[in-house]
Amino acid sequence: MIYHSTRQKDGGVNAREALLKGLCDDGGLFVSDEVDTRPLLPADLVRLDYRTIAFEVFSRLLDDFTADELKAGIEAAYGNTFASPAVTPVTRLGDNWLLELYHGPTSAFKDVALCMLPQFMSAALKGKKERVMIVIATSGDTGKAALNGFKDVPGVGITVFYPYEKVSDIQYLQMATQEGKNVNVAAVEGNFDDVQSAVKRLFASDFAKETAANGVKLSSANSINIGRLVPQVVYYFDAYRQLMANGTIKAGDSVDFTVPTGNFGDVLAGYYAKKMGLPVGRFVVASNANNVLTDFLTTGVYDRNRPFIKTITPSMDILISSNLERMLYDMANGDTDLIARLMTDLKEKGVFKVEGEMLDKIRAVFTCGFADDAETRISIRDAWKTDNRLIDPHTAVARKVALEKQREGVPMVVLATASTYKFCKDVYEAIAETERDRHDWDGFRYMDELVKLTGEPAPAALATLRQKPLLHQSVVTVDGMTAVVKNAAQREF
Ligand SMILES: *Cc1c(COP(=O)(O)O)cnc(C)c1O
Repeated sequence: MIYHSTRQKDGGVNAREALLKGLCDDGGLFVSDEVDTRPLLPADLVRLDYRTIAFEVFSRLLDDFTADELKAGIEAAYGNTFASPAVTPVTRLGDNWLLELYHGPTSAFKDVALCMLPQFMSAALKGKKERVMIVIATSGDTGKAALNGFKDVPGVGITVFYPYEKVSDIQYLQMATQEGKNVNVAAVEGNFDDVQSAVKRLFASDFAKETAANGVKLSSANSINIGRLVPQVVYYFDAYRQLMANGTIKAGDSVDFTVPTGNFGDVLAGYYAKKMGLPVGRFVVASNANNVLTDFLTTGVYDRNRPFIKTITPSMDILISSNLERMLYDMANGDTDLIARLMTDLKEKGVFKVEGEMLDKIRAVFTCGFADDAETRISIRDAWKTDNRLIDPHTAVARKVALEKQREGVPMVVLATASTYKFCKDVYEAIAETERDRHDWDGFRYMDELVKLTGEPAPAALATLRQKPLLHQSVVTVDGMTAVVKNAAQREF
C-alpha cells in the first residue's frame, strides 16, 4: 500500500515510513488511494471482538507490518490498559447510543490511538540505528495521553510543552506527575498558539537537522500522523458490531454517528471505516462556538478569519482543522492540484471555497451543527436529569447536535470523547442544583463535590493524582524550548 501527499502523487512511501515521517515534505498529509480495496464486511464482524477487529483494520491499512508485529502491538496497547474489558463500550443515551471512548489510562479518547502509535513506531524503528524524539505542543489532553503511551518505549524519547497556567488543574497534575526515564515536560510562557508555532519552527530549524545528524530524529505524534488515524477506525466497526450483538441492527443496516470535532481526525477515521465498507448513513460534525466547520459544511466557504473563542470545550477550540485536507482530497477524486490550491488559499488568505458537485458530495455524507457554552451546559444538565448520564462538555456538544440531526429509523451513535472528571468544575456548575454555583475551589474539591452530587466515582487514575509527587515543574520562555529538547535528546532513552 502506497501513501503519498494530498498535494502531489509523486514520492509515495510505505506505511512504516509515512508513520515515522508524520507529515509530507511539501506540507501535505499522507493519504492512500487503496483504503477501499479490501473491504471489511458487516457480516464478518459478528465473530470478532475489539482486538481482532483492530487486527483486521491494521492489516488492511498498514499492510507492511507483519501479523506478529500487529498482534503483539495490539496486545500491549489494549490487553489490560483500558478500564473496560470492551475497550470502547456502547451504552444508552436517551433514545440514542453513546460510544464510550474514555476508558483509557488518561481518560481521554486520544488514548485509543496513543496507546497504539508507540507500538507501531517501535516496530517501524526495529533494525534502524536512528532514535526518535517526539515533540508535542498540547492544550491539555494529547500531552498526557502521549506521555503515557511513549513512557519507557525503547529508542523513543518524548518532550511535551503546554501553555503555562492555561490547562485545567487536573490536566496539569496529570502531566506534572508523569513517571518514566524518557519523558520531559515543560510549561511555556504564552498561549497554545505560541507553543504550537514554536514547535513547528523547531521541526524546521537547523537544530532539528543537527540532532538528526547525531542520530535522533525529531518527530510528532499529533493527529495528522496516520498512526493516530488508523487506530480510530477500529471503534466505528466495533460500535457497529455491538449494535448487531444487542439486536438494534442487522448486518447491512445504516447507522449515523455524531462526532465532537476539532482537528477532524476522529470523524475522518469514521469516514475511512465507511470507505472500507461500514454501512454509515451520515456523519454529524458537531462543533463548539468556533464553528468554522459548521459554516464550511453549510456554505462551502472555509473562513478562519474570525475571533478565536475560548470555550468550556478546549479540545475543540480550533480554527484550522488539519485533517479536513484528507477528506477534501477524497471528495476531489484525488485531484492533488486542487488540494494544493485550496491549501495555498487557506495559508495566504485564510479562506478557501468548494462548490458544485464536490460540495454536494461532501454534504451527502457530512452534516453539521454546533453548541455554544450555554447550550453545552444545558446539554450536560439534560443528559444528567433526563437520560441519567454524566457526560463531559465535549460529549455534551455532540449530544445537543445529535438530537437535532437524528433520523427516524436510523440508530444514532454519539461519540463520548473524555471522562467527565477531567472537567469537574464546568460539569459541576452545569448540574448543581444552585444554578451557576461558583466557588473558588481547586480541581480536587470540584471532583469530590461532583462525586457527592452524582454518586458516580472518578476514574482511579485521576482520583489518585493528589498523592503523586510533582516531577516536572519547569517553566520556560518560547526561546528556551530548544534547550529543553536539546537536553532531552542527550539523555539516554
Ligand atoms: C481531541 C478531542 C476532540 C476532537 O477530536 P478531533 O480528532 O481533533 O476532531 C474532541 N473531544 C475531546 C475530549 C478531545 O480531546
